[in-house]
Amino acid sequence: MTLTRFAPSPTGLLHAGNLRTALMNWLLARRDGGGFLLRLDDTDAARSEARFADAIRADLRWLGLGWDREAAQSDRLDRYALAADRLRAAGRLYPAWDTPEELEFRRRVQRSRGLPPVYDRAALKLDEAGRAALGAEGRRPHWRFLLAPEAVEWVDGVLGPQRVDPASLSDPVLIREDGTVLYTLASVVDDAELGVTDVVRGADHVTNTAVQIQLFGALGAAAPRFAHHSLLTGPGGAGLSKRDGAASLAEMRAEGIEPQALVSLLARLGSSRDVALTTLAEEAAGFDLAAFGAAPVAFDPEQLRRLSAQAVRATDFAGAAPRLAALGIEGPKAAAFWEAVRPNLDRVSDAAGWWALIHDPQPADAGEDADFVAQAMALLPPRPWGPETWGAWTGAVKAATGRKGRALYMPLRRALTGRDHGPDMAALMPLLEKP
Ligand code: GLU
Repeated sequence: MTLTRFAPSPTGLLHAGNLRTALMNWLLARRDGGGFLLRLDDTDAARSEARFADAIRADLRWLGLGWDREAAQSDRLDRYALAADRLRAAGRLYPAWDTPEELEFRRRVQRSRGLPPVYDRAALKLDEAGRAALGAEGRRPHWRFLLAPEAVEWVDGVLGPQRVDPASLSDPVLIREDGTVLYTLASVVDDAELGVTDVVRGADHVTNTAVQIQLFGALGAAAPRFAHHSLLTGPGGAGLSKRDGAASLAEMRAEGIEPQALVSLLARLGSSRDVALTTLAEEAAGFDLAAFGAAPVAFDPEQLRRLSAQAVRATDFAGAAPRLAALGIEGPKAAAFWEAVRPNLDRVSDAAGWWALIHDPQPADAGEDADFVAQAMALLPPRPWGPETWGAWTGAVKAATGRKGRALYMPLRRALTGRDHGPDMAALMPLLEKP
């Protein structure tokens, strides 16, 4: 059975790039009727915070991306220690004492000779006496995974056939001097033990994948299928900056962005399918990793805002009611009010201003139209007002004054609502409590 996972580090808030990863994994799992795991990669105790884990859960819930199971790497440290023991026993994990300064110096020498700055395995060349001497100095080793020389190949769900030659890679550090385990190992142990079948993540992880495929093999586990989606850029093609969309999902939510717009955009951005307002169920049914391209793709906050306004306008009263109630918009008029205002809204919260307005409309100063407006007000039909009232009234005013078009409608709209623009007056007028 398909099991995918979303594995954020709870060291910050989620942004659009993380959401792309989460969403693709979620859609893949739902398409296959499989499971979706939320895994918190929190081995970095200094930077991981419970408030970020809470924010991640809140964002996923807001987006409708429920998960079937949750795991935290900090709960699984004993599993990683056991895996490290197995790698040591197999001769695939070796201690190294090189200091950052020594490593940096050697990299500089390699670069100056035109060689790739790959770890030279100096630690493997130490004999017993050499190691004992370092131990006597009180130095503790970090631990590196011994890469096998064979090329690593896999068929990537997005990128197609991939081949990485380990000669171009340094043996990765899996355990730090202080004994803490690094993501590269923890992730493989989790994916293997929790039964993850498919890993979709950003193209910045392609090199990790080569290493991790060797790690799965060294631990006697089958590697999952991998797919690497391209990274998001800002509208100009440069990396996502704070201004153009690296904004957190929490900020987008506070700005009034509809979750449906976000998931609709990210479900198709960078794929061969045109972006449209859609639903998670529809996207899951038609989800196809192969439809996504390898090229970086621009995330445009303006496109998101347009899609979000479209989502607001497409929300029926039943869908909007809980959020309207939270804005104090409820009672017998609420449904007709929503139908009247929603075609004009970019954000649900903007309904609050119109709700206040219908309860206490303030006529705008008529200025040079004062006589015209006075004449029109004398023709105002008696209440109750209905959907035909605006047409009947403006027809009568037109007949009496000879005005038409904007010169007729604008002063009347201003006289009733105090605004130059707004919802269709035929729908709004019956809701006005004054005059
Ligand atoms: N915690 C890792 C990250 O956020 C997970 C990468 C992966 O999906 O394996 O980059």
